[in-house]
Amino acid sequence: MSKKYWNEAIETISREELEIYQLEKLKEQITLAYENSPYYKKSFDERGVKPEDIKSLADIQKFPILTKQIVRERQDALPILGDLVTVPEEKVVFISSSSGSTGVPTASPFSKRDFDEFQDVQSRLFWEAGMRPSDRYVHALNFSLFVGGPDVIGAQNLGALCIWAGTLPTDRLLFILQQYQPTAIWTTPSYAWYLGETAKQKGIDVAKDLAIKTIIVAGEPGGSIPATRKAIEELWDAEVYDFYGISDIFGACAGACEYHAGLHIAEDHMLVEVVDEKTGLPVKEGERGEMLLTTLRKEARPMIRFKTGDIVTYTNERCECGRTHKRIEIIGRTDDMFISGGVNVFPSDIEHVTRKIDALTGEYRVTIIKDNHMTKFNVEVEKRADAITSNEDLKALVTHEIKVQLGVKPKDVIILEDGELPRATHKAKRLIDLREGGEA
Ligand SMILES: [Zn+2]
Repeated sequence: MSKKYWNEAIETISREELEIYQLEKLKEQITLAYENSPYYKKSFDERGVKPEDIKSLADIQKFPILTKQIVRERQDALPILGDLVTVPEEKVVFISSSSGSTGVPTASPFSKRDFDEFQDVQSRLFWEAGMRPSDRYVHALNFSLFVGGPDVIGAQNLGALCIWAGTLPTDRLLFILQQYQPTAIWTTPSYAWYLGETAKQKGIDVAKDLAIKTIIVAGEPGGSIPATRKAIEELWDAEVYDFYGISDIFGACAGACEYHAGLHIAEDHMLVEVVDEKTGLPVKEGERGEMLLTTLRKEARPMIRFKTGDIVTYTNERCECGRTHKRIEIIGRTDDMFISGGVNVFPSDIEHVTRKIDALTGEYRVTIIKDNHMTKFNVEVEKRADAITSNEDLKALVTHEIKVQLGVKPKDVIILEDGELPRATHKAKRLIDLREGGEA
């Protein structure tokens, strides 16, 4: 019989013991940063804090916050890895690199131990998503500098048969799915949808001709939006597991279990803070806030209070699966959030609505506009070819449902025909900002 957990002692540790462990590691990590990184030494000194000030986990709040902008500046100050690094370059064995949504790419360095621990966490998350040595796994993520690339090693260390596909053209990938009959795949939610639809158009019966039973998704909120997940699961006759990762820490830091009740975050490797964006103060369980992460075991480059730009909610409650680490739910990126009528709007909130109305394909696009100096937004949706509702009724329904979900109405809802919105191959661009200084 197969074991239930990848690492039972760590995954089911009591909250109390976990926090004792985190405090010990936090002290070590802050000390490592202070003694070996010129940047951390200077920024802690300027704030008047020292490693000895960490007496409880809450003491982390006394320390300065680290932004992507600072990481970028520190990299320029001391090329190529920056002065947040705490080891000589010969101890660094791997860098991933990401530009995020803006600006110059930053490198995320790993020592040999960091890299091995990173892959052990990936094995843990794959195991939690039901992957076993009997699985055949297709890794359909980008290998080029992307931190999700090496995650395939985690699946391989677990014992699965791994196919290093990378980002192939859709036809090639479908050929691999037919030829080798893999049982699991990892991609983005929009691509999982696109791939399934393309297969269907080519006459492939996705549920019968292919063997995919597990679809791991990351990179967009869709995998945790129940209606989106259900739509992909029905298309593929497979189960969708959402993962969350960040270039500066691990390819995946958190993942869903079979209960899909939030993503278990590897708290033995990172301390999670969820704070109010305006006040910087911690929010309560269940409340939305920005996630800050502090690494607890990174050797090459500790990240202390790194502002992830992700808005989440969290719970400390033990999951039905028996795991005890915090579970987070990703609401969206701070970059994608806009304020309309005094309400914080995330594209994922609109996705909740478009995916649950049967007469819609689920595809959508949000356009932010200025109207009389006020921020408003329009929503484009697609009516399914076989839907019998009139456009007028559908428009009223979508408007009403968005009002219920968000507390604010869109200025206009535009009903398009099936197929009119562009289908994303990897990350879907669902937000257009037409305000002055906006992205458009
Ligand atoms: Zn669970």
